[in-house]
Amino acid sequence: MAGIYVHFPFCAAKCIYCDFYSRVRRDWKPYVEALLKELSERSGTFLEKLQGVPPSTLYYGGGTPSLLPSYLLERIAEAVTDTFGGTPPGEFTVEVNPDDITPAKAAELHSMGVNRVSMGVQSFSDEHLKWMRRRHTAAGATAAFDTLRKAGFGNLSLDLIFGFTGLDDGRWAESIDKALGLQPEHISCYQMTGRWANPDEERCRRQYMLLRERLEAAGIRQYEVSNYARPGFESRHNSSYWVREAYLGLGAGAHSFDGDRTRSWNSPDIDAYVGNRPCGEERLSDREVLEEKLMLSLRTVRGLDLAALSGSERGSLKKTTLEELSRAGKLLVDSDSIRIPGEELFVSDWIISRLFPEYTA
Ligand code: SF4
Repeated sequence: MAGIYVHFPFCAAKCIYCDFYSRVRRDWKPYVEALLKELSERSGTFLEKLQGVPPSTLYYGGGTPSLLPSYLLERIAEAVTDTFGGTPPGEFTVEVNPDDITPAKAAELHSMGVNRVSMGVQSFSDEHLKWMRRRHTAAGATAAFDTLRKAGFGNLSLDLIFGFTGLDDGRWAESIDKALGLQPEHISCYQMTGRWANPDEERCRRQYMLLRERLEAAGIRQYEVSNYARPGFESRHNSSYWVREAYLGLGAGAHSFDGDRTRSWNSPDIDAYVGNRPCGEERLSDREVLEEKLMLSLRTVRGLDLAALSGSERGSLKKTTLEELSRAGKLLVDSDSIRIPGEELFVSDWIISRLFPEYTA
C-alpha cells in the first residue's frame, strides 16, 4: 500500500552527529503553504499511478515535526485526507522530540488522528545526551513518554543510537533496559556513522548483539536491520519502502517513488522549496532495479522473496556465490527466499554487495 511522507526540516538546535537536512529556524508558515501547494499539484498524478487506491500511511519526519504548531500539522493532515478521498490514512506517524511534548501537544496530536509516535531519545545517559547536544534529559524523555501514553497513544516507538565513541557496553545495556522499562511497542536503533563512529567493530557488534538479545527477551522482535517491534506493531510506512511500494514525498529534500522505476526528489533547501521547488528525477536501469530489490529486501528479517524477481534477475544471482555465503553462515537460502540471519544483519551491506552482478560475473 502506498504512503505519503512529509518532511519538516526545522530543528531547535543541531545535534552533533546529524546529517539529515534540517535548519535551525522557525519560518514554517510559508513552508506549510508550499507543502499544501505541492500536495495539490502532485497528488493527481500520484493517485493515477495508484489506480485510485488511496495511500494507507502518512508519515511526518524531519527535522523535528513536533516543533511546528499543531494547527499547521493538522492543516496538512486534513489536506491529505481531503485530497485522497476523505478516508484518513490507517497509520499516521509523527516524529517528535521529547522536549516538545506537553500534555496539550500530546492531546492535539492525538485528536488530529496521529496514531503512532516515534520519539527521538537516542540515549538514557544524561552525559551522552549532553555530548550529542540533545535538548532533553533521560528523565525528560521518560516524562514525555508517559505524557504520550496518558494522551491515549497505544503505538509508541523510541529511537536509540549505539556504536559511538565513548559508549561502553555497560552504559549501553543501561540505556536498553531503561527503554524497555517504558514498554514501547517499537524501537528503532541506529549505529553511529561518520566522525563519531567507534572504529572498534567488535565492540559495535557486541552492542548490536546485546540490543537484539535484550529486546527479543522482552518480546520485541527484530524485523529490519535497525527496527524492532512487538508482533503487529511493525511500521507499515517504513515496511513499504523495503518492498518498493510507491510513496509521495513532500517537502524540501523529500524523495518520491512511483513503485516501478522512477525516483524523484526535491532539492534540500527551504528557501528554494518555498520559491520554485527545484527537483530531480531518474529512471532506474534494469540493473539498478535489481540492486534496489536486493538492498532493500535483504535489510529485513523476512529477506528477499524470489517470486519478486524476474527470470533474468534470478538468473543473475550466481549459484556459487549464494552457496559460498550460505556455507559461511551469512545467508539462508531456500527454494522461495534468500535472507540474512539476524545476527549477520550487522554486516548486511557487505553481504548484499557480494550479490551484485559484478561480483557474480
Ligand atoms: S533533532 Fe533530529 S533532525 Fe534535528 S538535528 Fe537532532 S537528530 Fe537531526
